[in-house]
Amino acid sequence: MRIEIIPCLKDNYSYLIIDESNNTACVIDPSEAEPVINFIEKENITLKYILNTHHHFDHIGGNIDLKNRYNSIVVGYKDDAHRIPEIEVLVEDGQIWKADNFEAKIIHVPGHTTGHISFHFFNDKLIFTGDTLFSLGCGKIFEGTYQEMFNSLDKIKSLPEDTKIYCGHEYTLQNSNFCIKHEPKNLNLQNKILRINEKLKNNLPTIPSSLKDEIECNIFLRAKNVESFSKLRDLKDNF
Ligand code: ZN
Ligand code: FE
Repeated sequence: MRIEIIPCLKDNYSYLIIDESNNTACVIDPSEAEPVINFIEKENITLKYILNTHHHFDHIGGNIDLKNRYNSIVVGYKDDAHRIPEIEVLVEDGQIWKADNFEAKIIHVPGHTTGHISFHFFNDKLIFTGDTLFSLGCGKIFEGTYQEMFNSLDKIKSLPEDTKIYCGHEYTLQNSNFCIKHEPKNLNLQNKILRINEKLKNNLPTIPSSLKDEIECNIFLRAKNVESFSKLRDLKDNF
């Protein structure tokens, strides 16, 4: 499988997972249709599936146009069927979603929204975390509780350390400023920031990150308990 990063809107990332054996693909969280269409038509790819991590407009905005154009199948969380446009396949926590050569475990990660899920492509050692885990940050808690978000991050944290993290937004630089403020002596973080700046300077995405990097550097994953996590989340909201 090959992953292509498709920048959308202001700072969103949609992703294509391309099965190179037959040039078919899934798209994760198409914020808008046009950049996705441009890429797949240039490369003659058949878009078979649309996978949504959650219902926010900047993650589902392209669903209708892409479905109309390619008749792709929309996959999303069962309890969000009423708010994910064109949803056809309903998935739940712990389920293995398998279609053609694509195979991912569904991990329910409530907090940002009640119906947020992550797609863990375990064979390829990568996970699409939407707006739950960002590189050096985590999503705002809109619908869930601090405890739910803390537990959700914990689920992701328990995956193999060499798992690649593909998240929904390019927020890494801003997040790194917050992390370094709280852990100024963290050498891994200092190092990660150098790598981040190098990428941004060359106009490249800072994504994917790795779970190892996030465990070493992301202060939200490093919070020992839900109390300290909540405190950090509140501070970040006003940062
Ligand atoms: Zn969101
Ligand atoms: Fe978002």
